[in-house]
Amino acid sequence: MGISERFKRAFKGKIKERVNLKNYSYMHTGGYAEQLFLPATIEDLKLLHEEFNSVDIIGNGSNVLFKGNIDRIAVISDIFNSTISVVEDTITASAGISLPHVARVAYENALSGMEELIGIPGTIGGAIRMNAGAYGKTIFGLLKNITVFNMKSGEITNLNMSELKPTYRDGGFDEDNIVIEAELKLTREDRNYMLNRMINFSINRRMRQPMGGYSLGSIFKNPKQYPAGWLIETCGLKGKRIGGAFVSQKHANFIINDGTATSKDILDLIDLIRTRVAEKFNVELELEIVLL
Ligand SMILES: Cc1cc2nc3c(=O)[nH]c(=O)nc-3n(C[C@H](O)[C@H](O)[C@H](O)COP(=O)(O)OP(=O)(O)OC[C@H]3O[C@@H](n4cnc5c(N)ncnc54)[C@H](O)[C@@H]3O)c2cc1C
Repeated sequence: MGISERFKRAFKGKIKERVNLKNYSYMHTGGYAEQLFLPATIEDLKLLHEEFNSVDIIGNGSNVLFKGNIDRIAVISDIFNSTISVVEDTITASAGISLPHVARVAYENALSGMEELIGIPGTIGGAIRMNAGAYGKTIFGLLKNITVFNMKSGEITNLNMSELKPTYRDGGFDEDNIVIEAELKLTREDRNYMLNRMINFSINRRMRQPMGGYSLGSIFKNPKQYPAGWLIETCGLKGKRIGGAFVSQKHANFIINDGTATSKDILDLIDLIRTRVAEKFNVELELEIVLL
């Protein structure tokens, strides 16, 4: 797939050809991308918009499963990770900065609100798209402003926060909007109190979730009535394996890649889980992860 000479000359970030996507998903599976872009500036996003009109994007890839080969993708993590500033009770962070890093900066500045989110391995942009959350706290509960680049119009705007309707694991805004920066409003707090909370949340996560292997966290959203993990476990599927993919013994809503799985293994296991849960409970499990 050709890229114009004008684009190649003007693009400040990196362009990679024929990239193995497994290095860009926490599941460590996937096909190949013919072209992978690491935009360095807003101008690079504008160039992508002019050249291709629309491009799929990822952040850290901690919630993305690549189904197979794709033509092109842009990664909003490496480069858009430079700016973070604290003014009074507000942290402004560019989209590629990781949630754990923002949580640490918040802690250093005695600003509370991020403690629950410290174990989520995504970027600010990915977290906002997914309305990431843990222990009753979601990123949207902290957001004061979101600045986006719109891939269709090529314009930079601030989203109107009062019009947004985020839901469970969905920021609820137009797919064409790429988050480039966000402002988080936090609350001044005693650092020792914050540290204790962060330690407790981290311990709790370690106790409840599998460590090691490749995974995307929870595969399915929790239906209203029962946690997805309980439904899957009750179907006797803990440990169920297809190829190199298996259902975690520790938390049945986690699928682990033992290092040899393909995306097809993961997708087949997802299908099997859905079928069994639907047969037994008449519940349709909905994916939390994003398929690209
Ligand atoms: C071990 C583990 C534990 C996890 N625990 C939790 C948890 O407790 N709670 C939770 O909510 N999630 C959890 N997750 C899932 C994941 O970390 C979050 O969904 C995270 O917010 C995804 O961020 P990311 O940058 O990795 O996004 P990606 O996985 O790269 O992308 C996810 C989606 O966001 C979009 N996106 C990425 N960047 C941007 C941007 N700048 N602008 C607009 N859209 C963008 C992508 O197009 C895609 O649709 C966990 C994952 C793992 C591996």
